[in-house]
Amino acid sequence: MAEQKFRIGIGYDIHELAEDRDLIIGGVKIPYEKGLLGHSDADVLVHAIIDSLLGALAMDDIGSLFPDTDDRFKNANSLSLLKLVYDKVQQEGYWINNIDTNIIAQEPKMMPYIPKMKTVLAPVLGLDITDISIKAKTKEYLDAVGKKLAIEAHSVVLLERIGG
Ligand SMILES: [Zn+2]
Repeated sequence: MAEQKFRIGIGYDIHELAEDRDLIIGGVKIPYEKGLLGHSDADVLVHAIIDSLLGALAMDDIGSLFPDTDDRFKNANSLSLLKLVYDKVQQEGYWINNIDTNIIAQEPKMMPYIPKMKTVLAPVLGLDITDISIKAKTKEYLDAVGKKLAIEAHSVVLLERIGG
């Protein structure tokens, strides 16, 4: 990889809402009648962040790195996967400048949990909470997210070369 000063990455994820699952978003357990379905804990925001980091380095995406056919990642804590990926970022010689994300959910309300998410994510990403943006939106009752069948997340990250 060329040693550019900056690298930018985008990440996207969606998970279906299902009965008998915990709802974990941004490493925070949110009280709700349903949770996100997936092989791991299905933390849609953390998965989007992971893909934005991998994208910034033009690496294989989260599905290739942590395949859902691999039992090691069954019910995996997504924060520990994020930690592994941030280690890779540092090994490549980069640190995170800032990160901007969206959580798109019709229900439940995300806003009350966002400060906690930032507190959980900041040490994992080596960032101050002021360098982490998490915005919550609804889908205005449109499509699968608007019909409360799924929750999605987007992430954009800017990496800067360590040492400038
Ligand atoms: Zn996912």
